[in-house]
Amino acid sequence: MSHSAITANVFCITNQKGGVGKTTTAINLATALAALGKRVLLIDLDPQGNATMGSGVDKNKVAQNLYQVLIGDATIADARVRSEVGDYDVLPANRELSGAEIDLIQMDNREQQLKRAIAQVMDDYDFILIDCPPTLSLLTLNGLAAAHGVIIPMQCEYFALEGLSDLVNTIKRVHNNINPDLQLIGLLRVMFDTRVTLQQQVSAQIEAHFGDKVFKAIVPRNVRLAEAPSHGLPGIVYDKNSRGAKAYIEFGNELVQRVKKEALRQQARPRP
Ligand code: ATP
Ligand code: MG
Repeated sequence: MSHSAITANVFCITNQKGGVGKTTTAINLATALAALGKRVLLIDLDPQGNATMGSGVDKNKVAQNLYQVLIGDATIADARVRSEVGDYDVLPANRELSGAEIDLIQMDNREQQLKRAIAQVMDDYDFILIDCPPTLSLLTLNGLAAAHGVIIPMQCEYFALEGLSDLVNTIKRVHNNINPDLQLIGLLRVMFDTRVTLQQQVSAQIEAHFGDKVFKAIVPRNVRLAEAPSHGLPGIVYDKNSRGAKAYIEFGNELVQRVKKEALRQQARPRP
């Protein structure tokens, strides 16, 4: 019996480069999917807690956070809180999570702890999004071990392609060694400025190299998206008519279509 159709799609939003728009993508994708009626959990895997705060949840006022979940002192059902503004659940993080690295190292199956915790809430959601920190740490490895797919937000800059090949190699290594389910779902161009020729060139190179793995939706550089977190709001809620919000809504739709197509493709595959 296959449960693949009823359990959640678990996606990591990752890029080892800092400040490329991972958290902005995680928050706004969660909001866009929730607006489509999907049940969404956003897991904040970064001790900075930006995804938590940007979802309108005070990271310093939560009773429990991802740290307790990873070390086995709480379940996700205990620690999750509701983002009222985004209409999705958040598994919050704060500075306490930076201690998890040290605790995890001493545990058996140290890279499998997030997967273990997620297994218990798999049926509660359609999408579980994991906002990764900008490092390839044991935390990120827990994210990649738990996920079915990786979404890579990227800026179309000169060194972007070089960084991408490192990331794609990491995904391959995780796929081969710890998580055979892991796939590259797609690349999302963010903070895009059409007036910059170099960005257009890099964008074209990415399309040439990654083909239909590149999402058609492109998120522009848009100040409304940058302002939203200081109000504790997803960009889509802060100003739903902004160009940035519209792009993330389009991205949410595109992702749902891509997941549907992939599920059909899997079903069509002859089974042994
Ligand atoms: P980190 O690596 O620190 O976790 P990150 O990859 O999660 O960073 P964000 O925090 O999402 O990146 O974005 C970095 C900064 O850029 C933030 O100040 C954010 O508000 C801003 N930003 C993100 N996307 C856009 C956009 N499309 N237009 C304008 N500003 C943006
Ligand atoms: Mg971030």
